[in-house]
Amino acid sequence: MEQRQSQRNHMKMTSRVGAVVGVLLLVTLSSAAAFVAPRTNAFRNRVQLHMGVGTALKRVKDSVLSKERSREDLKIGIAGFYDRSSKLWEDVWGEHMHHGYYVPVDRTDHQQAQVDLIDEVLKWSHVGEDDATKPKTVVDVGCGIGGSSRHMARKYGSKTRGITLSPYQAGRGNELAKEQGLSPDLVSFQVADALDMPFDSNSFDLVWSLESGEHMPDKPTFVQELLRVAVPGTGRIILVTWCHRDLKEGETCLTRKEEKLLAKINRAYYLPKWCSVNDYVELLEKNGAENIERDDWSHIIAPFWKAVIRSSLNFKSVLGLLKSGFSTQRGAYAMFLMLRGFNKGLIKFGLITCTKKAE
Ligand code: SAH
Repeated sequence: MEQRQSQRNHMKMTSRVGAVVGVLLLVTLSSAAAFVAPRTNAFRNRVQLHMGVGTALKRVKDSVLSKERSREDLKIGIAGFYDRSSKLWEDVWGEHMHHGYYVPVDRTDHQQAQVDLIDEVLKWSHVGEDDATKPKTVVDVGCGIGGSSRHMARKYGSKTRGITLSPYQAGRGNELAKEQGLSPDLVSFQVADALDMPFDSNSFDLVWSLESGEHMPDKPTFVQELLRVAVPGTGRIILVTWCHRDLKEGETCLTRKEEKLLAKINRAYYLPKWCSVNDYVELLEKNGAENIERDDWSHIIAPFWKAVIRSSLNFKSVLGLLKSGFSTQRGAYAMFLMLRGFNKGLIKFGLITCTKKAE
């Protein structure tokens, strides 16, 4: 029995090594050809083709091995991923690019479930609704096409600014605001990096990050930036993000199997290494945040991925998917990996809120 298992492992290893060696060989050959080719026009074209093939093969190899991306590759990749996939998402799902609030569990109006998630998170975070306590200024960090921003600008009348890495999303966010009769002074969107925000310190009553934290390759800087732009004393930070489970006592890291599943998701969704809700709480404490509260809403959002998968099984979605290219298609496949991660208790839908210390 053990021998058979070890034989099977060996075969798996051998075929994987074979594939990698094959890919490496092709990459090496194409680079070598590009290097030695004479520099006539025809040859230059061929060199460019070889280099294109080389780059494509490298990408395939990195994907097969679920290789972690560098910070720069990640930033470019995130922008491109959302530039390419946001229209399809909006066509099928509307302006909110986040999970829904499934209480009761069998609700079927998914877009309303998404709006409710925003309201329920705001309620859970004790955000005031009367004139004296409601936020007058809001920053939406990682805003997508601006669903949360426009909702809060309408709800509170707050001056709201959204940032995203994707030029398409910023443009579409502004376009939708105009269509919905919201002035650019009230709500507007721009391309900017959450790790280096183009805003003055101490300027926002509410700092909102809904399902963007998982993209940040430098969590300490991310947390410091969220705190920096909040108004001291009353400024509130709300961070809703995908986390891995908290480590158990005695554990120093996730299991290899868990790491492997996350690495595959990272390739598909342009994510860096994950952290736990505990890690975020520690970072916030270290940076002087006050009134820190946390929760796990994995059970509340659970029906979402199944609904997304179902929604993608119609003609319009399949056609859109076929047209939108490899990375969007890989993103669609990764929905199943997300579902598995949630089911295994590895992925958590984490909520964290806190206030900024008075100066
Ligand atoms: N909060 C939105 C979108 C979630 S999708 C919604 O709920 O609808 C993730 C968003 O994070 C995308 O808009 C992406 O561009 C943004 N993002 C990821 N990394 C970022 C970074 N470093 N700076 C700014 N935005 C970032």
